[in-house]
Amino acid sequence: MLEYPNTISSKLPKVGTTIFTVMSQLAKEYNAINLSQGFPDFPVSQTLIDLVYKYMNQGFNQYPPMAGISQLRELIAEKMQRLYGCSYNYDEEITITAGGTQAIFTAIMATVNEGDEVIVFTPAYDCYAPAIELAGGKPVYVQLKTGDYSIDWKQVKKVVSRHTKMILINSPHNPSGAILKASDIQELTRITKDNDIIILSDEVYEHIIFDGEEHHSMARYPELANRSLIVYSFGKTFHVTGWKTGYIVGPSNLMAEFRKVHQFNVFTANAPIQYALAEYMASPDNYMHIHHEYQEKRNIFLAAVKASRFKMKPTKGTYFQLLDYSRISDEEDTELAKRLTIEHKIASIPVSVFYHNPVQNSVLRFCFAKSNDTLMRAGDILCSI
Ligand code: GLN
Repeated sequence: MLEYPNTISSKLPKVGTTIFTVMSQLAKEYNAINLSQGFPDFPVSQTLIDLVYKYMNQGFNQYPPMAGISQLRELIAEKMQRLYGCSYNYDEEITITAGGTQAIFTAIMATVNEGDEVIVFTPAYDCYAPAIELAGGKPVYVQLKTGDYSIDWKQVKKVVSRHTKMILINSPHNPSGAILKASDIQELTRITKDNDIIILSDEVYEHIIFDGEEHHSMARYPELANRSLIVYSFGKTFHVTGWKTGYIVGPSNLMAEFRKVHQFNVFTANAPIQYALAEYMASPDNYMHIHHEYQEKRNIFLAAVKASRFKMKPTKGTYFQLLDYSRISDEEDTELAKRLTIEHKIASIPVSVFYHNPVQNSVLRFCFAKSNDTLMRAGDILCSI
């Protein structure tokens, strides 16, 4: 082991290893069913895999253009028009990224200055705050309402100030599965009407919304789209989280700033995968129906845990289901998540880690992007607890 001889002044003194890595490692170590980190365990489309192979064999193995290949960006522009009625110029307003997290990090680095405030709703996905802090900004936390995880707009109005540079929106929401409603859009429009606040909208679960509800993308609303950088993920949509490919869309002046940072952060994203995705995405049938598949999985999981002592409300979006364990234990969720992994062989994510302040809300997050057999086995374990 080597050791740096001097004291390191950490740029992220309070940050440890992300909970997703911690829980997935623990699941592996104890041979537990892993419903912690969100990733599908079922096979990826063979057609899509064959396409990557085809493009690698055809020699598409060198740097693609910095912003991503134009065929893929054109298809994304068509999709944004078709689904959300917003026209994005593929040349200037769409960039392919090495996944959603890189898009979020780069967007924050490119726009948040020293001392700027960014409103973040908690529980919040864990990559937001560190990126804001590394940019010299200050996360200003607003807690989502208990119960339905909706936005407390009164609270938002209280914290918006001339220092607010950005509001970070995430719908469908990780970890709660909550989705924005039409009334949220009205509030957000009102709050951003007479100022320059940028919206960074994490919409990586855009296609995973249940029970006939619709996705309120920022792109649907011109007043909001004009000030929004919106992040999407091929990993979520095509069940290929390990391919780390996503994209970001936004008005040309914001995108120009984004690209200034992107080119020195990753420069560009994986070439053969972009060619393969472009060919595959040309058929919207390949992604427009995934909510049916996931709704069925949600329902299978809910039916499998129905007889347990956990309390649950069907999740509205994402592939995560929260289970409330207050009838089972008064342990802290971080402790319980570990114990369930080690003793009962089932791994989940403790939701308290997504809050800024310590909370005791007795909730664990379970990923149901799994084969039906895995979900049934998980259900059996959870019913025995
Ligand atoms: N988005 C995934 C989740 O919420 C985790 C991704 C990661 O491990 N960074 O589980």
